[in-house]
Amino acid sequence: MATRPDPGRPLAQAIRAAHRYCTARYPAPPTFAAGVSGARARLLRESAGKWLNGSTLRYWFFDKPARWAAPEAQKNVVREAFRRWKAVGIGLDFVEVGRRAEADLRIAFEAGDGSWSYVGTDVRTARDDPRTMNFGWSLTEDAANGIDTALHEIGHTLGFPHEHQNPFAGIVWNEPAVYRSLAKPPNGWSRATTFANIIEKIAPDTVQGSAWDPDSIMHYPFEAGLIDRPARYRAGLAPAGGLSARDRAWVRRFYPPRANRPPAALKLLETAPLALAPGEQAEFRFTPAATRDYEFRTFGSADTVIALYERRRGGAVELAADDDSGDARNAYLKVRLAARRTYLLRVRLNYRRRAGETAVMVW
Ligand SMILES: [Zn+2]
Repeated sequence: MATRPDPGRPLAQAIRAAHRYCTARYPAPPTFAAGVSGARARLLRESAGKWLNGSTLRYWFFDKPARWAAPEAQKNVVREAFRRWKAVGIGLDFVEVGRRAEADLRIAFEAGDGSWSYVGTDVRTARDDPRTMNFGWSLTEDAANGIDTALHEIGHTLGFPHEHQNPFAGIVWNEPAVYRSLAKPPNGWSRATTFANIIEKIAPDTVQGSAWDPDSIMHYPFEAGLIDRPARYRAGLAPAGGLSARDRAWVRRFYPPRANRPPAALKLLETAPLALAPGEQAEFRFTPAATRDYEFRTFGSADTVIALYERRRGGAVELAADDDSGDARNAYLKVRLAARRTYLLRVRLNYRRRAGETAVMVW
């Protein structure tokens, strides 16, 4: 696959002094109940904001107002970027929808507003501004930069932060030079924006692995004079372009390819044990005999995310979800279901105190 188009791109060409940078919109760090620490907190932070595997993310392009709409050629770059992430072989699906009400991801092209996305499931937070992703410059003017910008913003939507803020990178910035450079056009950033998107280190548990990947699609290029150390990047740093080997490995770790077997049946009033390691997910199907309210709950000392879907033509649609991560309680749903329809329950185990003591039940 030609997702690393120009490994030999000359540094000067890849890092134009006037590079336009993404302004990711990070959620507040997750907070946990008192006493949640150590391995539990680490595992919870790692899974925070990640989608349940198997999810279908429906995306939609604004057609109005005019400042948010874009010609097909621009949208095609974004469609191609979704296709490339999917082609890595992940368990998420991406479907373009024609109606805003059906969309999880609402994509605009407001020129001059920067390119950005919310991170992971935080795109679901209701806000006055209905956009979850924006492209603030042309994606077709410079083809390599255009597809990389779209891959990068989708990377945020999948739950990945900026790689140059990886605390393991050990980047020592020439901070005055960074603030000066980003304050100039075309970025025109405030000190706070520059700090949040470049200087600030991300919590070690939330970055992709423990090693730095300067070729990650989530890494910015940097012009000469912004990085003090490692010394080899004083002349500038240009990621290779496209998805790196580690981007591919890491997205498959969170969203592994899905097994090609039907989910196990969940039976009324029978506990189904969850033989899962942290980060793993189980899937059950449930076909109620009567139309009424049903309750689903996890049991045991575990942190889980559960979600219930109805199978419909065009893919499963989520009806309800709950996340008990960092709480003393258990994940719980109460939903009215219709007789003889097929429902799907997904459970992701984020943490468990002891193996083999977690289960889920419907009644
Ligand atoms: Zn970004």
